[in-house]
This record gives sequence, C-alpha cells and structure tokens, in this order.
Amino acid sequence: MPGRLRGDARSWYAQGNDVKHVILTHGGVTSPQSHADSCAAAADDALAVLNAGGEALGAAIAAVARLEDDPRFNAGTGSNLRLDGRTIEMDAAVMASDGRFGAVASIERVKNPVLVAAKVLETPHLLLAGVGATAFARRLGFDDHDPVTEGAREKHARALAALGGNGDGDFSSDAARFHALTAKRFWNFDAEPLECDTVGAVVRDAHGRFAAAASTGGSTYMLRGRVGDVPLLGAGIYAGPHGAVAATGIGEEIARRFLARTVYDWLADGVAPARAAQRGVAMFPDVLAIGVLVVGRTGQAVASNRTMASAQLVG
Ligand code: ASP
Repeated sequence: MPGRLRGDARSWYAQGNDVKHVILTHGGVTSPQSHADSCAAAADDALAVLNAGGEALGAAIAAVARLEDDPRFNAGTGSNLRLDGRTIEMDAAVMASDGRFGAVASIERVKNPVLVAAKVLETPHLLLAGVGATAFARRLGFDDHDPVTEGAREKHARALAALGGNGDGDFSSDAARFHALTAKRFWNFDAEPLECDTVGAVVRDAHGRFAAAASTGGSTYMLRGRVGDVPLLGAGIYAGPHGAVAATGIGEEIARRFLARTVYDWLADGVAPARAAQRGVAMFPDVLAIGVLVVGRTGQAVASNRTMASAQLVG
C-alpha cells in the first residue's frame, strides 16, 4: 500500500505489486527513534530525484548525502573519532542493480563521502582508500571539510572512559587496549558502548531498477586505518536485478557473514523481503546489534535487533 512510515525498525513492512517506487532509509542500528525525522527528510530528497526523472542510484545517493549532513549521525559530519581522539576516517559505498559499484575507505576531510564514492563508480576502479581517496576527491573539487563535531568528541571521551583508559592519543597504547577489548572476557562494560550509527538507503525506482548506498564514520572503537563493511562489495551493501540491501552494525561481523550479498541471494532464490531481512538479522547473536534494509521485487522490509531510526516512502 503506497504511503509513508517512519520509526522504529523492529517493524515489518510489505507491499503489493502496484508500487512504483520504494525508498527506505536508516540512521544506523541503535539510533534513537527521535532521529527518524532526518530519515524521512532523506527519503524526501530521494523522492525528489525520482520525481525529476532520476534513477534509483541517484535517489539513494541523495538520501545518504542528506543523512551525512546531519551531525547526529555517525557519517560525514558527526563521524566517530578513532581511538587516537584526533582522526576521522570515513567509508562510503554506492551500488546499482546493473552492477555498477563505487566506494571510498578511510577517506578524510570531505563533507560527503558518498558523493566521492559515486565518482569512484565512474572510474574503472571499485574502491579508493586513504590518502588516494582524499586526493581523488580534491581533484574533483570536493572542498576541505572538518567533520569533527563536539558530539564526536564527547562520544570519544565516553568511549575512553568505558575502556577505563585516559586516551593519550598514542596509537600503540590504544591498539593494545583494542586488542584486549576484542576478548569479551576482558570487557568491563556491556555491549552498549559499541554503538554504531551508519546511515544507509535502498531504492527501487519506477523502472524496477534497484540501488543501495551507505556511509559511516565506523564503529566506536577503531584503530586508525580500520575499514569496516561498508566499502567491501557484498558486505555492507549490495544491489542487483532482484533487489537491494543495506546493513548496519559492527562491520567486522557483517563482513564475516557477507551479509548484504547473502540476503540478496535469498531474494534471488524467491525468499520474500521480510523473511530475508529477518533471516539476515537472525544470523547474528543477540549481543551484536544489527539492522538491514531490504527491497525486492515483491516488497520491502526493515529489520533490526535494536532500535533503529528509519523511514520508508512508497508510491
Ligand atoms: N557498519 C559500520 C562499520 O562497522 C558501522 C555501523 O553500521 O554503524 O563501519
């Protein structure tokens, strides 16, 4: 049924065959319901692209760019600081159902990593990383931009407090703490500090084309140079003739399970989108926060095991 829904992603949606377009957006697993306003605004931006004759890919990119500009989200402006307390390195990716893919990893000092990823898609490459990705952006006219916010600083301070350290910015000592962190028996905190807030979108346009896009400042505890699932083809996002998928959660766990492509393969096998989304989330133990957006030929679904601000626009 055409219309708009927004809110907590632990709800399920489905559509009939009369639908012309579908737009789903999310503000990251663990993002509060109060952030759904931005997800709805991002969906509106995507719809404006479709209404102007644009394709699903452009719509997904527009939605994610809008979310990157909201400093409440861990993507673009507002991205997480690395454990060193100084560095922000961002990942973003875009994919269309005809196989076009572009991504950036560990890019620094740009306002909209997803727009740079969209430019990588126009090159023969799939993924540009680090200083090369930033130089590519500059070459194409993306201005220098400092994405650090007061909110990111506060989050970093809280994260360090949760680790029981004082964050002197020294890379090697942070690394040592991180390695200790990975063994759960050493944790002196629960899973709560490992929050994410990647943003993402999936779109089906009136011509049946699908697209997915995502952008992230990464997880809460990260070494410099850490790359998550978002720019790894088939891990964080995937799109093909049967649909599009965007995931959010701890990137290492998503990549291990090849989540987006796995869910997509279920769509290709005829599994209903709601079921595919549910199965995707069920691949993870409850201690790991995980969320997915799924749109297929027969419907769409948003699923997560935590709160996740999201919006859907179906027309
Ligand atoms: N998947 C992202 C990452 O690990 C984080 C997130 O989804 O919030 O980089």
